[in-house]
Amino acid sequence: ITHRPNSEALYEEALLHIAGGVNSPSRSFKAVGGGAPVFMERACGAYFWDVDGNRYIDYLAAYGPIITGHAHPHITGAIVRAAQNGTLYGTPTELEIKLAKMLKDAIPSLDKVRFVNSGTEAVMTTIRVARAYTKRSKIIKFAGCYHGHSDLVLVAAGSGPSTLGIPDSAGIPTTIAQEVITVPFNDLDGLKAALEHWGDDVAAVMVEPIVGNFGMVMPEPGFLEGLCKLARDAGALVIYDEVISAFRFHYGSAQTFKAFQDHKAIEPDLTALGKIIGGGLPIGAYGGRKEIMEQIAPLGPAYQAGTMAGNPASISAGIACLEVLQTPGVYERMNRLAIMLAEGLQQAADQHGIDITINRIRGSFSAHFCNHPVTNYEEAQDTDGERFARFFQLMLSEGICLAPSKYEAWFLTTEHSEEDIKQTIEAAERAFAQMATRK
Ligand code: PMP
Repeated sequence: ITHRPNSEALYEEALLHIAGGVNSPSRSFKAVGGGAPVFMERACGAYFWDVDGNRYIDYLAAYGPIITGHAHPHITGAIVRAAQNGTLYGTPTELEIKLAKMLKDAIPSLDKVRFVNSGTEAVMTTIRVARAYTKRSKIIKFAGCYHGHSDLVLVAAGSGPSTLGIPDSAGIPTTIAQEVITVPFNDLDGLKAALEHWGDDVAAVMVEPIVGNFGMVMPEPGFLEGLCKLARDAGALVIYDEVISAFRFHYGSAQTFKAFQDHKAIEPDLTALGKIIGGGLPIGAYGGRKEIMEQIAPLGPAYQAGTMAGNPASISAGIACLEVLQTPGVYERMNRLAIMLAEGLQQAADQHGIDITINRIRGSFSAHFCNHPVTNYEEAQDTDGERFARFFQLMLSEGICLAPSKYEAWFLTTEHSEEDIKQTIEAAERAFAQMATRK
């Protein structure tokens, strides 16, 4: 698939009417050599079909939410029923209680939750609540972690901004940027030093407990324990951004991940959620300790609201998605396929003398063109973006859809098959072979 005339025509037209032709910068092909992004027409299970009639195996999974594949009948059915009963009431519904209880059962640190419409909103509000509770203003975050596009967390953010080579965004007042301190991921000494300097002003330490935005990166043993202890000793709250990590690796989140031994020692005060918990419809949620969540209006002085928040369609899709994920064996299956795929990619790369570092965490992984480990943002930046761009384009021409960024993960879904994995490995073998001859 090298010729996509309909996508190209639509892109030309989109450029006339939509800023940059896309409604999120990460969808543009700017970081992979430019050109028209593929316009998709239809998706089902693990596949996409574009407007030129080509089929693709999808590992983008819409940047995470589509863990049960596209148009899953259980979720689609729930959305249809919700739509037939009215999509938005502006009143509470019983459905909201159901999803809140499901989240609390899976993530015990959530005494109380609130639903919002995106991960950005969820994170933004955790910060407001932390500031209200501590009566402090500064936030510590980790380089390369992406927490949405609100002012405060778009300082030294990863994901979109780093891909585009914009370390920061225009339009953010320096007075706001000065409220944010950035420390390298996995660097407890750096965190300690920051807290020693600014500790009395720090409202919260915010982190992706398992990183999904500069590749998939595990915290080193002791990092989360140390982070929680240092933050609390300084009187700051701990906020986990689990927008990507919740329900990604198992039925729970990073803070309940089996690989972490001492779950009490790594428990956050507040957690931000999104993506998977909405089953592919817009959603975000945040929650945490009761006395902190009581800061929120109408109980307390911190304001947060939303016309669309908790809408029956998103909530129904979220419930249905979590129900699918409760099916015994689904995570083990994704895990097994991800092992198969990661090993196949590694072997194919080795065979052609191409350096690649694969960070796999259960059913998802990132593949970095480099010959060193990737444990923090600096190491992720120090990988070969041009090689990735070439690989991305070759895979696309083979009908394999990846995110157009060297920092993004590959996501397995419940709908990928062994045959899909085999085809993907064969495609990668041909891609690596071409890359090797081009060296
Ligand atoms: N936090 C994390 C960890 C994310 O990965 C993202 C989105 N990629 C966000 C927050 C923002 O979520 P949304 O795009 O729904 O606003």
